[in-house]
Amino acid sequence: MKTGGAPPPASAPGIRAAEALGKKLKKIGLHSAADLLLHLPLRYEDETRLTTVADALTGAPAQLELTVLSSEIQFRPRRQLLVRAADESGEISLRFFSFYPSQQAMLVEGAKIRVFGEARDGFSGPEMVHPRWRKIAADAPLPRALTPVYPTTAGVSQSSLQKLIGTALQEAELPDTLPDAWRQRLKLPGFARSLRFLHAPPPEADGDALEARRHPAWRRIKFDEILAQQLSLRRAWLARRQQGAPPLAASGDLAARLVASLPFGLTGAQARAIAEISGDLAQPYPMQRLLQGDVGAGKTIVAALAACQAIDAGWQAAFMAPTEILAEQHYLKLSAWLEPLGVRVAWLTGGLKSKKKREQRAAVAADAQLIVGTHALIQEGVDFARLGLIIVDEQHRFGVAQRLALRQKGDNPHQLMMSATPIPRTLAMSYYADLDVTVLDELPPGRTPIKTRLVAERRRADVVGFVKRQIDEGRQAYWVCPLIEESEALQLQTAEETFARLAADLPGLRIGLAHGRLKSADKQAVMAAFAAAELDLLVATTVIEVGVDVPNASLMVIEHAERFGLAQLHQLRGRVGRGRYASSCVLIYAGPLGPVARQRLKIIFEESDGFEIARQDLRLRGPGEFVGARQSGVPLLRYADLEADADLVEQARSVAEAMLTEHPAQAAAHLSRWLGWREELLKS
Ligand code: ADP
Ligand code: MG
Repeated sequence: MKTGGAPPPASAPGIRAAEALGKKLKKIGLHSAADLLLHLPLRYEDETRLTTVADALTGAPAQLELTVLSSEIQFRPRRQLLVRAADESGEISLRFFSFYPSQQAMLVEGAKIRVFGEARDGFSGPEMVHPRWRKIAADAPLPRALTPVYPTTAGVSQSSLQKLIGTALQEAELPDTLPDAWRQRLKLPGFARSLRFLHAPPPEADGDALEARRHPAWRRIKFDEILAQQLSLRRAWLARRQQGAPPLAASGDLAARLVASLPFGLTGAQARAIAEISGDLAQPYPMQRLLQGDVGAGKTIVAALAACQAIDAGWQAAFMAPTEILAEQHYLKLSAWLEPLGVRVAWLTGGLKSKKKREQRAAVAADAQLIVGTHALIQEGVDFARLGLIIVDEQHRFGVAQRLALRQKGDNPHQLMMSATPIPRTLAMSYYADLDVTVLDELPPGRTPIKTRLVAERRRADVVGFVKRQIDEGRQAYWVCPLIEESEALQLQTAEETFARLAADLPGLRIGLAHGRLKSADKQAVMAAFAAAELDLLVATTVIEVGVDVPNASLMVIEHAERFGLAQLHQLRGRVGRGRYASSCVLIYAGPLGPVARQRLKIIFEESDGFEIARQDLRLRGPGEFVGARQSGVPLLRYADLEADADLVEQARSVAEAMLTEHPAQAAAHLSRWLGWREELLKS
């Protein structure tokens, strides 16, 4: 631990104690003096004023200056040190249930102490239980600032943290990393001033604004924190730009022929997305673009057109999806689109028989032009002949390492990531600032809005009747089984029971069951049968959550909807409403509902816009789960709040861009101040 303070005493126990303290501090992320400086208080206590015993019974914490009258250990009702003390206005009892003999020895008759705590009306007059106290010399001055209360960990006391941070503050120079003119334009106070203020605000400071982190000093610190994140991501973006990639000129006509063969025209949003992507692909550095679009927005065709450009330029495109079902569906759709145009499409999943797998791998290494698959694409032994573009569908389902592995199958291929989990704008700016983002903000025409209903468990029979009527009309339906996160075995059992029960309730219907434990060939057979309308009802676990596209399915039933997360519910609901039929989603819930589950159901019932749902989800859960595996590579925010501080995110983003080019030294200083030892971790 480098505190910059005086060295610890050179005795062995002293060093050991310092080392032990250092270890504990590291546990809360405090590795250096710089870290200590940025370790900010949770709240404050006002020790700048004294109250008298007579005025102490206010229910609020008070500070008293007392003379000890007596102290003794009592055993009833339990062992405690009872200290009687007084000021001119009266007497008070202080009770300590845990104490050291050394402390007892200090609390002797005549000792002057200052105590801080909440007084209450006890058995024998006013008393305080476990007040903070310390012995003082006569006329010891009162502190002139509020006392900070820091986040800490077991074994690190407030007073030692206060001392360490106080020393670090005294010794630090705290130069401002933000150029002065910019700081003034942003109307932010100086860094040093803000930091010193937050560690030791004057007693008259606006306590509410401080606690709510709305004070200008807090805004400055939060801005700096976001700026560090933006700088780090922006730098990663620039670094990748330095790498070379094959420019894939949009010269050929494959894309045009594909568009001409489609039974639909592209939406404006799709056309814009393709134009952006096409421009990126023609550059001599790798594209790193995220294509976002709500479920059903039509991302697949955009990806296919990007693949066309790569193929026309003589390169291979790889298309990776997170599940076998989805990969298969993409394979079927993409080969139906592209094989008639003469494109050689290969197909690689873990489920392939070994002979077939060998054949496909040979094609990948030779003349396949588009390769569709699952994680099988990134396995060893899969060698691409000329990989120029990688497309990752449902990218948030993959870890950083997996995406990296796919990238390494080529020599800096262009990358197109796709996500149907809409991410609120501030979150996207914050966590994906190293990517370029394209949003498909328009659904293909002719979709009928999905009607969502909430139905209590006891009315399950009505739902079954509704399913029957839909199917009688020629539609198909999904029935999603209750989610059991704790146990896969139980999940399977529940799925089988649900299937059996529905088969009994709905005789004569063709019902299939799809769950994660099925062999992949069986799962695919079930999905294919459903897609071909050979099944009326598909009972399934969340394996159908992402991407599955069967336009004739018009009803989605979700049992125990209260157990699902918002993003999951939205994804599941998005499986219907894909054709020209009026669609509905029935959410069966079982009470009693907890407050969060109730909130979630209310949101999914009222909202159909994925971005709005995501925004509310962010409010409900915080950003962690949105960014999933990505999180590890992005500096997290400790102080700023993406919702509340959205304006700061916007500002920091543009400042970061300018700072890296116009003030690189200050940008570097800023990064090392905020990221310090973490910077190494983030470079991966
Ligand atoms: P997602 O963005 O969820 O991946 P898909 O690419 O699966 O969406 O598209 C959903 C459905 O919409 C598919 O059946 C697709 O063929 C169809 N589709 C895509 N674009 C259009 C369009 N411009 N007009 C009509 N239908 C479209
Ligand atoms: Mg999709």
